[in-house]
Amino acid sequence: MEKFFSPRSIVVFGASATKMNLGQIVLLNNKQIGYEGNLYGVGSQEGDVNGIHIYTSVASLPETPDVAIFLTPAKTVPGLMRECGEKGITHVVIESGGFSEYSHGDHTLEYDVLAVAKKYNMKVIGPNCVGTVNFDMKMMMPFAFFKNIPTGGRLGLISQSGGVGGSYLRAVAGYGIKPGKFAATGNKLQLDEAHFLDYFIKDPKTDIIAMYLEGFKRGREFFDLARGCDKPIVIQKSNRSPISAKIAQSHTTALSSDDSVVDGAFRQAAIIRVDDELEFVNAIKVVRMPLMKERRVAVLSRSGGHAVLTADACAKYGFEMVPFPPSFIEKLKTIYKTRVIAHQNPLDLGEIFDYTIFTDILEEALKLENYDGVLFNHLYSSDFEGEMSRTFLAGVEKLVEKYAKPVCLTMISDREELLKIQQSQPFPIFTSPLEAATALHVSRTYHELKTLRDGRGKLPDYSLDLDMVKTIRSRCVHEQRIALTDEALTICASAGLQPVKDMLIKNEILPEKIPLHYPLAVKLVSRDASHKSDVGGVAVNIRNKKQLSETLVSMKDKIQKIANPPAIDGYLLQEMAPEGIECFVGGRRDPAFGPVIVAGLGGIFIEIFKDTSIRLAPVTPNEAANMMKELKAYPLLQGARGKKPADCQALVDIICRTSALLAACPDITEIDLNPVIVHPEGQGASIVDARIFFEEPTVT
Ligand code: ADP
Ligand code: MG
Repeated sequence: MEKFFSPRSIVVFGASATKMNLGQIVLLNNKQIGYEGNLYGVGSQEGDVNGIHIYTSVASLPETPDVAIFLTPAKTVPGLMRECGEKGITHVVIESGGFSEYSHGDHTLEYDVLAVAKKYNMKVIGPNCVGTVNFDMKMMMPFAFFKNIPTGGRLGLISQSGGVGGSYLRAVAGYGIKPGKFAATGNKLQLDEAHFLDYFIKDPKTDIIAMYLEGFKRGREFFDLARGCDKPIVIQKSNRSPISAKIAQSHTTALSSDDSVVDGAFRQAAIIRVDDELEFVNAIKVVRMPLMKERRVAVLSRSGGHAVLTADACAKYGFEMVPFPPSFIEKLKTIYKTRVIAHQNPLDLGEIFDYTIFTDILEEALKLENYDGVLFNHLYSSDFEGEMSRTFLAGVEKLVEKYAKPVCLTMISDREELLKIQQSQPFPIFTSPLEAATALHVSRTYHELKTLRDGRGKLPDYSLDLDMVKTIRSRCVHEQRIALTDEALTICASAGLQPVKDMLIKNEILPEKIPLHYPLAVKLVSRDASHKSDVGGVAVNIRNKKQLSETLVSMKDKIQKIANPPAIDGYLLQEMAPEGIECFVGGRRDPAFGPVIVAGLGGIFIEIFKDTSIRLAPVTPNEAANMMKELKAYPLLQGARGKKPADCQALVDIICRTSALLAACPDITEIDLNPVIVHPEGQGASIVDARIFFEEPTVT
């Protein structure tokens, strides 16, 4: 991968010797910005462009370049790549598009590219991408002219789209952030987002990783890398809705994952998710500072009105504006003797016009253990205070470092001044109290998720009887049907997910002995009806044998009267679970991320409020507990309104075991325990219903 970022020589295919074309732009651009490696072109005509020689064949190049860039029509690429392979070129960037659309015979051009790459052991970026940039090296593969090539940047930027990537490179520069390296992935035929993430994680010159992605090719590998990464990762993942999915598919052939899965995986790996360019930039800015460890914030404001706005913004994010301690107030009195200001948080500095005092007060606030971060509103006139403000900024930067706490500065001045100061100052600056508070919230959330992630603990070692899964699956496949309720519950039991005591009967005639305790529930077991209540197939609270017998007869009767009656494979008699809160635990497979576990409360909480929590499976007990705490309905489990708290430990155990089962059995495509009735603390939880779907067997 290093060769893509630090090539000693580059050849561009499709560079014209006579007229300006994309290939020529790449060559000229690199020459102009000062790339020191060797540059060559290959085109249909021999010639010279600004001292760069254009050859007509790869074979005639005087050396073997580190990287070949293709800007020729798609159909020429495999042939030219072969020539590169013969020449010994191992790193290829295909900037040309139009690959997946083009097919010949029974396979596509992409197939040919991969075959050549395999034969010559080549690494390939693209197609349909703009390649990489290394600012320190002054090396740029994109076919666009860049003038400003700042060096010493520590940001690694990855973009699936060249257009968005280019605009974000310019955007970060406009906010005083220097990019260090850039990579566009395009269609990710071979190298994908996980390869680039891995590179940036290991790159000693990259401190922060930011990405624009439309889809994941190897979501699970990406997730595993991100989860082990200590550098902040900021991602804008688009392609959230069915409509954008359609556009993205033709744009960079991105396949969409369920967006809630992406959200869950990002939370789990402590990836900062953003939704647009400004959020992207602000997240990058704020994580360059020390992180906000808890929620306590001190607000200092040169304007009373902006102090109020800041208080509102803090309330929005649940920040605590704890009052200043008496020691601080005393200190304030020694710093500015004559002024009388209400010594409250937010502190209105309105009457003071002394930059030393601003810095001193800020330092006193940062010294206090009572605060985890500071919001400072700096309202100033650019004509008179422009210079002073810049000196002040430099002072703030030093204090942030000294006290290892974030200070989000809201600069309030005229537009022109703000643009200038934002562009020229590396220290993060925000332009509204809400924007600054939002940034602090990003910092706080990142710190929290990272702490949870790093403290997730170990996966429990469960013993799973996978043979049972295999046996039941083959039976289902053989009979071409879904798993029946009793089979699904049997699989659960084999994974340590103990359902309530039950007994299967084949028809409505009751056996002599029923080794269960009343009250009982009765359920239809049918290959045609996995939602039993919908067909009248569930009865609860049956008190005795007589009632049981009557219930079975009437259930059968009712079911047979349905227009298209479902098959009756039997009835399941179950002991009634004691009272509790109905939850559900489920799982499925995501095309990019693999096994995913979902938990939430049952009933309206899932149907109407969509209150669920998602993680990639398997999860540890700590992760399962975090899932629960994330639910809006969590207070109900904690025992809201005088109710006893529920046995969360039991629910955590069920979440973990279900996730382990799903992760261990690729054959299970979906599992659904609904409901899991969670009893009061110490009394466990009861699994009373389960549905399991298997992968359709592939016909050979
Ligand atoms: P389905 O989801 O197929 O309609 P369930 O087996 O989930 O059928 O039963 C429907 C509802 O009946 C459950 O949500 C639960 O409220 C109640 N129920 C079913 N079985 C039991 C049981 N053994 N103990 C307590 N309640 C039960
Ligand atoms: Mg159910």
